[in-house]
This record gives sequence, structure tokens and C-alpha cells, in this order.
Amino acid sequence: MRYAETVVDLVGGTPLVKLNKVTEGLACTVLAKVEYLNPGGSVKDRIATRMIEAAEAEGSLKPGGTIVEPTSGNTGVGLALVAQQRGYKCVFVCPDKVSVDKRNVLKAYGAEVVVCPTAVPPEDPQSYYSVSDRLVREIEGAWKPDQYSNVHGPRSHYETTGPEIWADTEGKVTHFVTGVGTGGTITGTGRYLKEQGPVRVVGADPEGSVYSGGTGRPYLVEGVGEDFWPTAYDPSVPDEIIAVSDADSFQMTRRLAREEGLLVGGSCGMAVVAALRAAKDLGPDDVVVVLLPDSGRGYLGKIFNDDWMASYGFLDSEEGGTVADVLQ
Ligand code: PMP
Repeated sequence: MRYAETVVDLVGGTPLVKLNKVTEGLACTVLAKVEYLNPGGSVKDRIATRMIEAAEAEGSLKPGGTIVEPTSGNTGVGLALVAQQRGYKCVFVCPDKVSVDKRNVLKAYGAEVVVCPTAVPPEDPQSYYSVSDRLVREIEGAWKPDQYSNVHGPRSHYETTGPEIWADTEGKVTHFVTGVGTGGTITGTGRYLKEQGPVRVVGADPEGSVYSGGTGRPYLVEGVGEDFWPTAYDPSVPDEIIAVSDADSFQMTRRLAREEGLLVGGSCGMAVVAALRAAKDLGPDDVVVVLLPDSGRGYLGKIFNDDWMASYGFLDSEEGGTVADVLQ
């Protein structure tokens, strides 16, 4: 019989699929690595598994311990899923701007969610930074993974995502494109691929974020971009960072659902826009791999809601939708 022993054994091993419509006019091959096929629905299952296994080995997470992390999104789901299977408790701290749906997903996996006010400075005792630090101090057996500084984040990508891409492309990958949030994906995967051959590593970043030279000014695409430099990110790995606007990111996200059958999140549209820009002058022997971190299910009320899109003026230039539009 062929089956996995637990759901955690289903993390990783995600497939590549060729993009056929949004790439019309390009000479090279563009392959998408579909991370929503992980059991928790995102690329973050990989780092959750690796961070927990390392903490167990190092003794910082002991049987019956509690995982405390300030997160509301994909990392929380990955941690909750692995924690539940291994008998740990999870407490996630999130700001009150996080949607009720997202909180309920974490609760569904058995995690506890502590909600903090957004409208207070970080040093306020009620802020979500202060509260998560206090919980770590006060809960017996508490452990905080801290995905922004945990070396096992990038390491999980070095050990799994990179080798999977190299093996599945039979070493033919010439370009790797991914969004940058904590920087773990680009650092680990990019480093592995560059050690195997001359692979060009391209980061995709929302306009306004520090990675592409911004000040951290706000943008709407979620999970990527930062207003500080996390240590999980090694800036020597990417050869280039391409800044993408919210409008371009979201329009491409909608096209991926409509034209490629890939219902994915906003950072996926952003990464594909960067991939098409990087692929513009490439030849038929080039193989671009673009990583798509999560599913579009979490964004039905935003990116896939015409009223929400229209309220930001993002629908105005949606007609047409050719490669040429994106490459401008
Ligand atoms: N997209 C989404 C939706 C994410 O949740 C994340 C993780 N923050 C990323 C992209 C970026 O991945 P990384 O943190 O490895 O840079």
C-alpha cells in the first residue's frame, strides 16, 4: 500500500507545471513550482517542519512544549499542523487587522490565537511584539521559532526546494525567480542552485519594500517585502531584485487563475511578473523556474473580488493582458 505515515510526511515534493498562456511571445520555458500543494497550503510548511525538528534536536522544544510566534498567515498554519502531529501546543499572536477567517484557520488546527491592537507603538505592552515576548517568558516550556532569524528556514529550502528544482529540471534550470519576505526561500534555494551550476537568481519585491531600495512604504501584496532586513535573508544570493507594483501583481494573479488554472495568492502574481520580465530576452534553451508560495483561497475577498480591486483602481487596465503589457 502506498500512503504517508502522517500529514507531515506530505510536506515538499511539489510539482513543476509549464506556464503556457501568460508566457505567450517568450522563447524560453517558464515553469511554476506549485507550493499550495503542500498539506498546509503553502511553502511555509517546509520551514515549519525543519524549524521544529531542529528545536527538538537542540532541546529548545521539549515534549508537551508550546510554540509561540507572532504570525497570522502561512507560517502559523505550517507550525500548527506539525505541532499538532507532534503533541505541542501553539499560541499565535496577531494584530487585530488580521481577518477573522485567517484567525479561524489557525484555530481549526487547534492553535490558540491572541489578538492585539494594531494602533499602538511596538514598545507598548499591548503591542503584538510585546505580547509575544511576554508569552515566551511566562509560558513554561515556550519556544519561539522566529522565522525572520531562524537559520533552519533558509536551510529547509537548501535541503528540499533547491534539490527538487535541480532534479525535476534535470539540471537544465537557468533562472530561479521567487518573492522575498523573510528571504528564506531565495537564500536557501538560490544558494543550492548556484552551487550546482550557473543559475541566475532573481528576487521579486513589492514596490516600496527595502529589498528593492524602498523605505518600507505600504503595499497591499501580502507575505513579501519588508521594512527591515531579516537575518534569514542573505543579500549576496540574488543577482537581481525586480520591484513589482500592486496593480501588476494582482492583475497577473487573476490571469493565473483564469488562463493557467492556478488559483494562487498575490505574491505568486508578483513573482510571475518578475519572471516574465527576467525572461524577456531569453532563448529557447533557457528554463525559468518561478515559485508560487500559496493558494488564492485566502484572498477571495480581496484580489478575486471585483469591488475590492476596483476600489484601488486595479481593474482599470486589466483588459488586454498580454506579455507586452507586463513587460512595459
Ligand atoms: N509569499 C507568501 C504568501 C508568503 O507567506 C511568504 C512568506 N512570508 C513569501 C511569499 C516569501 O517567502 P520567504 O519568507 O521565504 O521570503
